Amino acid sequence: SITPASLAAISNGAKRGILVKGGSYIEALSEVKTIVFDKTGTLTQGRPTDVSIYSLPLLEEAEILAILSGIERQSNHPIAQSICRQLEKQGVVSQQEFLVEEFPGWGIKGTVAGITYKVGKESWMNQASVKQFLKASGFNAPIVGKTVVFMERDDEVVLMATLEDEVRPEAQAAIAEIQALGIQTIMLTGDNETTAKKISTTAGVPVYIANCLPADKVTEIKKLKGNNDLIAMVGDGINDAPALAIADVGIAMGKGTDVALETADVVLMKDDLTQIASTIKLSRKMKRIVK
Ligand code: ADP
Ligand code: MG
Repeated sequence: SITPASLAAISNGAKRGILVKGGSYIEALSEVKTIVFDKTGTLTQGRPTDVSIYSLPLLEEAEILAILSGIERQSNHPIAQSICRQLEKQGVVSQQEFLVEEFPGWGIKGTVAGITYKVGKESWMNQASVKQFLKASGFNAPIVGKTVVFMERDDEVVLMATLEDEVRPEAQAAIAEIQALGIQTIMLTGDNETTAKKISTTAGVPVYIANCLPADKVTEIKKLKGNNDLIAMVGDGINDAPALAIADVGIAMGKGTDVALETADVVLMKDDLTQIASTIKLSRKMKRIVK
């Protein structure tokens, strides 16, 4: 059953583009102790614009790029979409049909004509081949503050892409407002350490965990819930769905993937992080009315 006060809060939220899927979430939000944020597409725009693609001059570059486009075209991941946009700009077209499988938190695998290609994070690749590729391409210093994606053909790295995603314009203010309500903020991301540090610092989130697989995100939330604290999780991707489900309140960005929108208890229809603090204020006000 739903109380008149929570019904009023739900309809008030709906008017502002905050979709709350039940009165119990309004109540839970009023007592949330920690809010966990995903990085890509949640604290960041999820639309990396500064994309660079490196391949070895010796290789059949055009063919490799076409294969990359053919595989990433079939992924909804913001990284995949940015890579495709960049390839389009470079005039790359692909005709081949790939059989693909996505590995949330790692990347995507594609097979054509019996050859398997992997596109994804460094730790998912043949480490010796990564080292060789970096050396051959003249990368002598570590790549700092960028998302890095490699592409492997039958265990051999043939390409690397670096991407830079920007923090959402409202992120810093939204995080500060949440913290002013006495709520702790944490960022969990599947991305590398230096990018995680850069984004969390810019957004003003004091704690982050990098290289976090979808299952690790769940483990971290379970840990936070350990002392009976109420935890909210904010995310947008397929990789966030398990964490959104396990949190006391799962919050999805309105432009997130269908799976995130379906799994979440609250949807920020305007894709605006400042709506989190306003929803919490609303939930606390409702609670005072009830009491
Ligand atoms: P986040 O937690 O920041 O949203 P993910 O867990 O979705 O990130 O992905 C972690 C990492 O896996 C990415 O930074 C990227 O290196 C790699 N990755 C995942 N999906 C893809 C994909 N479709 N194409 C290329 N790389 C991917
Ligand atoms: Mg994300």
